Amino acid sequence: MSGITGKVIAISGASSGIGEATARLLAQKGAHVVLGARRTDRLESLVSAIRAGGGSAQYRALDVTKQEDVEAFVNFAQSKFGKVDVVINNAGVMPLSPLEALKVNEWNQMIDVNIRGVLHGIAAGLPIMKKQGFGQFINISSIGGHAVYPTAAVYSATKFAVIAISEGLRQENDNIRVTVISPGVTESELADSISDEGAREGMRKFRRIAIGPDAIARAIAYAVEQPDDVDVNEIIVRPTASPY
Ligand code: NDP
Repeated sequence: MSGITGKVIAISGASSGIGEATARLLAQKGAHVVLGARRTDRLESLVSAIRAGGGSAQYRALDVTKQEDVEAFVNFAQSKFGKVDVVINNAGVMPLSPLEALKVNEWNQMIDVNIRGVLHGIAAGLPIMKKQGFGQFINISSIGGHAVYPTAAVYSATKFAVIAISEGLRQENDNIRVTVISPGVTESELADSISDEGAREGMRKFRRIAIGPDAIARAIAYAVEQPDDVDVNEIIVRPTASPY
C-alpha cells in the first residue's frame, strides 16, 4: 500500500499535459482519479486507457470558470467514491503578450481560469474536507509565480495569486494539507494559446529544453503520498538547463 492507494483524487485540466500525466501516474499507483476538462472526448479516451491498464477513473465535463461546474465536479467525485482526498487545481491558460498589446480579453481569461478556477476548486472541496476532517489541495502555480518576465505580467500575476491563496488556505486549516507545485517549462499544449507573435516565438525557443509532464506528475505523487501530518508546501521543478 502506498500513501496513494485508495485515495479519491479530482484533477482539473486532465485532458492534456500535466493533468493527463498526473492522472495516469496516480491511477497507476492505485488512486481513484476523477478527471475534469472541457474536451470530454480526450477525457473519455484517457479514462478508457486507465481502466484498460487496471486503474480506476471517472470523468465529468468541467469549465473551471463556472463555480457551479466545479462544485458539481467535486460532488461527483464524492458521490462516486464516498470521499474526496485530494483536489488538484491544475487547469490553466497562458496567452502571453506585452501589456501594450492590450489583449484585455486574454488578461480576463487568465484571471478567470488561473485564479477564479482555483478559488472555485477550493469552494467546492473545502466544505467536504472540513466535514471529513482531512483532505489536500494541490494548486498548480509556476516559476512565473516566483518571477516576472516581459510578456508574462498577467500570467505571473495569476500564478503569484495561486501562491498567496494557497498560503492563506494552509494557515487557516490545521488538518487539510495544501501544496503548491511550481513547474518550469514543461512539454504540453500550454503555449498553443499564445496569439502574440513575439511572445509565441520567444516561448518556442524557451520550450526546446522543456521536461516531460511526467516529471511534474512525480512531484505531485510525492506530495500526495506523504503521511497526513506531513504537508509538502511547495515544490519547484524545472529543467536542469533552465536559467528561469
Ligand atoms: P495544457 O494546455 O496541456 O493543459 C491545460 C489544461 O487545462 C487542459 O486540460 C485544458 O483542458 C484545461 N483547461 C483550460 N481552460 C479550462 C477551463 N476553462 N475549464 C477546465 N479546464 C480548462 O497545459 P499544462 O499541462 O502545461 O498546464 C497545466 C498547468 O500547469 C497550468 O495551470 C499551467 O499554468 C501550469 N504550468 C505549466 C507549465 C508548462 O511549461 N507547461 C509551466 C508552469 C506552470 P480543456 O481545454 O479540455 O478544457
